[in-house]
Amino acid sequence: MDPELLKYLLMGIITLNIFIEKWLAWLNIRQVPDHLPATLDQYLDDNKLKQTRTYQVANYKFGLVTGIFTYLLTIWFIGSGFFGELDGWLRYFIDYPLFLSLAYIGILYMGSDLLSLPFDYYHTFKIEEEFGFNNTTKKVFFLDKLKSYVISIVIGGVLLYALLWLIHQAGLDFWWMFWIVAIVFMLSVNLFYTAWILPLFNKLSPLEDGDLKRDILRYAKSVGFSLDNIFVIDGSKRSSKANAFFSGLGKRKKVVLYDTLIDQHTPDELVAVLAHEIGHYKKKHIYYNLITSILQVGVMLFILSQVIYNENMSLALGGDQLALHLNFIGFTMLFSPLSMLLGIGMNMMSRKHEFEADEFAKTTYAGEPLAEALKTLSVKTLSNIHPHPWYVFVHYSHPPLIERLEKLEE
Ligand SMILES: [Zn+2]
Repeated sequence: MDPELLKYLLMGIITLNIFIEKWLAWLNIRQVPDHLPATLDQYLDDNKLKQTRTYQVANYKFGLVTGIFTYLLTIWFIGSGFFGELDGWLRYFIDYPLFLSLAYIGILYMGSDLLSLPFDYYHTFKIEEEFGFNNTTKKVFFLDKLKSYVISIVIGGVLLYALLWLIHQAGLDFWWMFWIVAIVFMLSVNLFYTAWILPLFNKLSPLEDGDLKRDILRYAKSVGFSLDNIFVIDGSKRSSKANAFFSGLGKRKKVVLYDTLIDQHTPDELVAVLAHEIGHYKKKHIYYNLITSILQVGVMLFILSQVIYNENMSLALGGDQLALHLNFIGFTMLFSPLSMLLGIGMNMMSRKHEFEADEFAKTTYAGEPLAEALKTLSVKTLSNIHPHPWYVFVHYSHPPLIERLEKLEE
């Protein structure tokens, strides 16, 4: 395709993308609940509903501003040939093509992150703070940033270097070779996330002996689930929002409970939440998710292999010769509609899994305490009670609260 045409195609794609994105968000925010099911009466009074609404609107506006800012900046960068100019400028300093690409992508990554820093800061210390969710101190906020820069530079740098090296050495075959590298990497993250990455940000401690631990272990045993690692994480260091998750595969699996979750729920509710999580294992969702992500990466790499050597892509972005890093940027834009479609597929699968895990908790433990826990969680986090069905279709990895309650309380 002619570079000029390709340039307008890229602009068209990202325009369509933000249009769909913001249109869905708008549909979602203008949806005002007409009535609430009786089961939520005790949890949501008028005051709480009003607060929920205000929080949703604040986040909607925030998303609108950041989205439009990023969009305009990208369009300006494409239109003005900035991406190509940056390439030309870096070529004065760096000869070796692999380092050139690494530096180029590194600069864009750091640049975009620094630009988003004021927005992140505002979201944490203004919006989250105002609604009482924020516990992050400024020190923690900036330390987090610093640590994630170091991790991205080290891990991202090594992976990117491996990818670029394969592109240079193996030609078109690079896509399946790097796919193998990516699979090994994804499996290692899965296995070692709680042991290596998480402790850099949070403190993990084993759950103390007591009623809760006894109840959890008793339940786990009743469904034949071997569980030796129950950890508590100091999530309250950053936010009052609560969570629980499993990590790792096979014998290395661990369950991690947020301290905020333990504070906000009865032991009965906590066991029900755990029963739901164990349901994900018992129904093999963890493996389905892993396999789907692996396939997704494969598709991405294959498509990358179709555009990475296309000189016109570099020219479309303002370069004067083929540059792998320019084609990377072009690829991420070209790929965005497909990535939205893949995301929809993943979310559909995930929502189905959530219902199955709820069902598992209901049959092997009890539906009621899980329903109570979900209500508390949802109300405390000021979640949208009536999301728009299309917004749910595209973005929700979990079914909306009311649909889950209907099944749990049926
Ligand atoms: Zn779940």
